[in-house]
Amino acid sequence: MTQIAFLGLGAIGAPMARHLAQPPFELTVWNRTRARADDFARSTGARTAPTPRDAARGAAFVVTCLPTSREVESLLDGDAGLFAGMERGSMLIDCTSGDPATSRRIAARLGERGIAFIDAPVSGGTIGAERGTLTVMCGGDAAAFERARAVIDAFGEKLVLCGPVGAGHALKSVNNALLAVHVWATGEGLAALAKAGVSPAVALDVINASSGRSNTSQNLFPERVLTRAFPRTFRLALLDKDLGIAAGVAREHRVPSPLLQLTSELFAAAHVLLGEEADHVEAVRVIEQWAGVEIT
Ligand code: NDP
Repeated sequence: MTQIAFLGLGAIGAPMARHLAQPPFELTVWNRTRARADDFARSTGARTAPTPRDAARGAAFVVTCLPTSREVESLLDGDAGLFAGMERGSMLIDCTSGDPATSRRIAARLGERGIAFIDAPVSGGTIGAERGTLTVMCGGDAAAFERARAVIDAFGEKLVLCGPVGAGHALKSVNNALLAVHVWATGEGLAALAKAGVSPAVALDVINASSGRSNTSQNLFPERVLTRAFPRTFRLALLDKDLGIAAGVAREHRVPSPLLQLTSELFAAAHVLLGEEADHVEAVRVIEQWAGVEIT
């Protein structure tokens, strides 16, 4: 049996961890809010640990899925931290949608202790996590990727080594920036059409058989906006964070990126207006308010 520690049982972390709570894995979980870990353990049979250190003791792989790289880095140090528990030869697989620079620093610090690191952010949403069909974009060396494959394969369907440490995080941030562009642009377009007398349902029917279609127009708007369901699966606050990373990657590499910078500012404003718990698709509510129309 391969010993795994999973830290961060949030909206996507919990369904990912569920796939590791069965042979050939033996799973120990840690979550900042203890009750969440206890609930998870009751329904899966996984063990819980009181600290990251205790979860990591004896684990061949530690998997993290936290909001940002900052939280991952903050778990390393201190008496109860990962450095006090992880053994030489083990590996940290970070499934957080994090930032490349912090991941390179984390990888270097782990490397000094003989611990391997790969960034392995995921795409496919909470449903993809439940089904074990996530796309996992990895950054690290080929040997580490091959070793991590067995673990990532439990919740992923398409596993890709994208480049050195940080490459997975850079790619994930750009993917999510594209999602944000689609959400905002589709919202503006449908608001304008609604005011011009075209029903959003008719507009989507046509767009989805035409060249302007996207996952956003084909799935998110019909299922979440037109129905007003707005289920909370991926927080707007996290998409705002991803846009900040993507805009930063473009700036760092001196790529003129007015659209990425603008989209980042729009989602930062929506985050302030709608708060910490709003779902990413609820950004459309801001457009609706500004336009004085509902996309229904
Ligand atoms: P959630 O907000 O649902 O969960 C966050 C998790 O991190 C919780 O377990 C939370 O613990 C823990 N946490 C928060 N702050 C700290 C801290 N300071 N120290 C330790 N633990 C902390 O986020 P998601 O699960 O949705 O997202 C996790 C990552 O996955 C993010 O980077 C996100 O961008 C990415 N992602 C999410 C997707 C989704 O569809 N939800 C899709 C793809 C990627 P507690 O229970 O105590 O709050």
